[in-house]
Amino acid sequence: MVNDVIRDLPVICGLFPEEISALLEVEPLRGRQIFAWIHRRRQASFDGMTDLPAALRETLKSRARIWNAECVEAVRSEKSGTVKVLLRLDRGDTVESVLIRDRERVTFCLSTQVGCPLRCAFCATGAAGYRRNLDTAEIVAQALWLLEAGQVNPEIHPNIVFMGMGEPFYNYDAVHKSIRLLMRKDGLNIGARRITVSTAGEVRGIRRFADEGWQVRLSVSLHAANNDLRSELVPLNRRFPLEELRAALEYYQERTGRQFTFEWTLLDGVNDQPQHAAELAEFAKGLKAFVNLIPWNPVPGLPFKPSSPKRAVFFAETLRRWNIPVTLRKEQGRDIDAACGQLRRVVLDQKKFAIENNFH
Ligand code: SF4
Repeated sequence: MVNDVIRDLPVICGLFPEEISALLEVEPLRGRQIFAWIHRRRQASFDGMTDLPAALRETLKSRARIWNAECVEAVRSEKSGTVKVLLRLDRGDTVESVLIRDRERVTFCLSTQVGCPLRCAFCATGAAGYRRNLDTAEIVAQALWLLEAGQVNPEIHPNIVFMGMGEPFYNYDAVHKSIRLLMRKDGLNIGARRITVSTAGEVRGIRRFADEGWQVRLSVSLHAANNDLRSELVPLNRRFPLEELRAALEYYQERTGRQFTFEWTLLDGVNDQPQHAAELAEFAKGLKAFVNLIPWNPVPGLPFKPSSPKRAVFFAETLRRWNIPVTLRKEQGRDIDAACGQLRRVVLDQKKFAIENNFH
C-alpha cells in the first residue's frame, strides 16, 4: 500500500529546475539545488540533500519521488569493461542500457522505448515485441544509473548514443527533452557533439531533427541499400523506402551541413557481399556520410550468422575503394549479451521460469 502511494507521486529526475520548483512549490533556488543534487551528485533521496532544511526535506518526500527506475541487474564484462544495466520501471516494465569502453572513451547506449515496434529481422528487441514509450525521467535515469554502475571517473565526459531498445523518433518529445537535460551545464554537462540519435529511417523525425538547430549527431541504421532486402531486414522501409529516406537525408544535409553515420550490421551471406557494398556506395553518393560496420551479436532463435572477420575486412575495403569513409567496429560485450534486447530477454525468461515453477 505504501508503495502504491509512492508510485503515484510525480517524478522529478526528468524535470528542469524551474519545473521542479513549480511542482514542489519551492523557491527557484531550491529547484536549482535539487536539480544539481540529482544530476551532478546523483543523490537518490531527499534525505541526502543536506543543504536543504530538514523540515523541507520531509515535506518534499510527501510531494514527489526522484526516480521511477530502479536498477535490478548490472553485469560487467571483465574482458571489455562493458557494463549492462537492467532497470525496473513502474507497471513491471523493464529497460536496458549499456556502457561501452574503448580506451579512454566511455559511451552510454540508452533505450527510448520498452521493446520496439519495428521488428527488425536480426534484433532481439524487435523479436520481444513492444510495450510503450519511455518518459523523460526513465531515459535520463539510464545515464545516471550507468554512471553509478560503471564507476565512471567524474573527469570523463561520456558519449551518449540513443541506440538501445526502441526507435527514438517514435518518442521524439521525450528524447528531445532528455537531450536538453543531459546537456545542461548544471547537470551532466554533456556536449551536443557527444550525443547521437540513431533512427531506423523514420523520415519525419529526420526532417524535424534537421530543423532543431543544434549540434546533436544523427545516425541511420541502414543495413541494406536496396528496397527488397532492406524491407526484409528493416520492415520500416516498407513505409519509408530508400527514396524517401535519401530525400530526408539530403534535407538534413542542406539544413545542417553536418556529416552523419550509416550503421550497417554485417550478416553472413545476407548483406556482406560485393554487390551490397556497391549498392551502399551508390546510395551514399553525394551524401556526407560515414559508414559504421557492426559485427552482429548472435541472438538465439534468429536465422543469421555474423560475417567472418575476413569478410568484414573485405567489405570495408570494398567501400574504401568507392571512397566511402568506413570503420569496422570491434565486437563489444558478446560475453554479457550486449546486443540490444538480450539481457532483458534472459531476465524475463528467468522470471517466466520462476513463475511457472512457483519460485519467487
Ligand atoms: S534494431 Fe533498433 S529499430 Fe530495429 S527492432 Fe531493434 S531496437 Fe527496434
